[in-house]
Amino acid sequence: NAKSQGANRFLFFNDAMNQLAVKRLQIENLIRYGLKEDFFCVYYQPKLDIITGQLVGMEALVRFNTPKGGLISPASFIPIAEETGQIIEIGEVVLRKACQDVKRWIDQGLFDGRVAVNLSSRQFALPFLCEQIDQILQETELPSYHLELEITEGTVMQSPKLAIETMKKLRARGMHLAMDDFGTGYSSLAYLKQFPLNTLKIDKIFIDDLNTARGRNMVDTIVTIAHNLNLTVVAEGVEQLEQVEMLHKLRCQIIQGYYYSKPISANDFSTFLQEIKQKRWQSFAIATDV
Ligand code: C2E
Ligand code: MG
Ligand code: MG
Ligand code: MG
Repeated sequence: NAKSQGANRFLFFNDAMNQLAVKRLQIENLIRYGLKEDFFCVYYQPKLDIITGQLVGMEALVRFNTPKGGLISPASFIPIAEETGQIIEIGEVVLRKACQDVKRWIDQGLFDGRVAVNLSSRQFALPFLCEQIDQILQETELPSYHLELEITEGTVMQSPKLAIETMKKLRARGMHLAMDDFGTGYSSLAYLKQFPLNTLKIDKIFIDDLNTARGRNMVDTIVTIAHNLNLTVVAEGVEQLEQVEMLHKLRCQIIQGYYYSKPISANDFSTFLQEIKQKRWQSFAIATDV
């Protein structure tokens, strides 16, 4: 049968079938196959202090590593994994791998900060989420304060009261919480101040818009809200030096983006950490008079 002949068999379906449905089924099957064969891996993107240019942490981003060496980006499988519920298992794999990698880097004296891991709505809603995370931290021997969890407005607004309880439980364990893609969901300021967050991540769409007065105003407003709530601000998707300088002017503290580095494999990140330690890495400190 098709299944026993591997994932490639799923590419051949009756032409008459709805193309979308076929694609979804292919991806669902590919995910199942990937989970079984351990094809999911974690890439890391550095986060930088905008003034000192120092590495302050990194975000763990899932990749599907095909046997032929190709990488499939999450945009093409996360939405389907969300629907099928497979995201729960993927999320667990990502969390475990990220904790293992960071534990190793800490033990090697290469890193002492936090790794940020994305949580999907489905994961966040799991009644045993905290227990699952506890177990992974225990298994990997990673202290909870090295872990930050990224959630979106959509995730917490589904059921804000319940979300606050879950967030409090996670914070009580020492983890940090970041609101991802801030400004793209429907936010409620009334709730925002009740959420026990540490960080606001400004979505790339606002960073792309920094060359307009309106865009700068938006970022200025978001930073002001964040600071009033005592939250650290991270700008996502920073690609150009001009954006870095503008973000500094707008009092944003941390940047993440291609300007500094794309997400890289755990091996490459390990090399990168060693180069920083040996001071063989170019400084990204900016002129403070900008
Ligand atoms: P996100 O959490 O907002 O992650 C940031 C995304 O922006 C990443 O895309 C990253 O590669 C991309 N990015 C960073 N800097 C730049 C830049 O300067 N320019 C451009 N064009 N892009 C930049 P990626 O890795 O494709 O992930 C996309 C989304 O998939 C993530 O958005 C997140 O929502 C989701 N995702 C990724 N990994 C996981 C995971 O392990 N679990 C869950 N639940 N979702 C994940
Ligand atoms: Mg994220
Ligand atoms: Mg984001
Ligand atoms: Mg995003």
